[in-house]
Amino acid sequence: MKFSILSKGDQKSNEIRSKIKNYLTEFKLEYDEDEPELAISVGGDGTLLEAFHTYVHRLDKTAFIGIHTGHLGFYADWMPEELEKLIIEIAKTPFQVVEYPLLEVTIRPKDGGEEDRYLALNECTIKTAEGSVVMDIEIKGDHFETFRGDGLCVSTPSGSTAYNKALGGAILHPSLEAFQIAEMASINNRVFRTIGSPLILPSHHTCMFKPKHDRSFLFTIDHITRTYKDVKSIQCRVAEEKVRFARFRPFPFWKRVHDSFVADDYSE
Ligand code: NAP
Repeated sequence: MKFSILSKGDQKSNEIRSKIKNYLTEFKLEYDEDEPELAISVGGDGTLLEAFHTYVHRLDKTAFIGIHTGHLGFYADWMPEELEKLIIEIAKTPFQVVEYPLLEVTIRPKDGGEEDRYLALNECTIKTAEGSVVMDIEIKGDHFETFRGDGLCVSTPSGSTAYNKALGGAILHPSLEAFQIAEMASINNRVFRTIGSPLILPSHHTCMFKPKHDRSFLFTIDHITRTYKDVKSIQCRVAEEKVRFARFRPFPFWKRVHDSFVADDYSE
């Protein structure tokens, strides 16, 4: 089996990276950064986001696993103390995989030129440096509302514990094929009105955002930021592709939520 390792770059993560590489090579696994079947990230959830975007073009062939060198993570859920156990499990390939849904974002320009398509593991956010974001929101082709405010966050179920949570969005179990739209400081008064609550849409629904003004927009796709001008529409839906995580032991999602946000005394 071919594997690659992406480190956060700090000393602890680099040391763990070298250790895993040496052990797995001794077990006759092949190190291949171009076409790995297993991409191992060492750092935090942010490092796993980077690994995801490194191999986003081959999600059907690359599975992911994350080792956390800081506090417990959502994607990076193996601790350095468990390294030996994990290495033996990886060496025993084949491994089981668990799949999580992704968000597909398509940005279309006004001039009818080529559209850009992105996949997000956590979320896409839309903001602007030029006043408020003002957009018509259509769900399944029907006008739903005109949003006016700081911005919008469209997240995946596994990304619901990230930016979305800070915006008051719900936490979604990653087995749900859905995406969530959360508002960032919408303007609500007698003139402007939005729903105000986060919306959770199923996989057969498409959401379209249509800017009302000629502004440049700041898009984030996970940790990546892009600026776009002259945007006709932004389309969001559950992607056909999925992210695959290598699974070597059960670690229930709700336990991760509990351990990260409540306390580390969860009992099943
Ligand atoms: P960062 O600003 O350096 O770190 C963002 C934090 O979010 C880190 O603590 C990261 O964990 C954590 N995180 C990432 N994915 C998560 C998930 N699915 N569930 C729970 N926590 C998660 O940015 P970054 O490391 O490049 O990561 C980009 C992400 O930051 C974005 O996708 C967005 O979700 C998040 N973000 C959050 C806010 C907010 O909460 N107000 C604002 C902007 C961006 P690690 O420490 O393990 O890496």
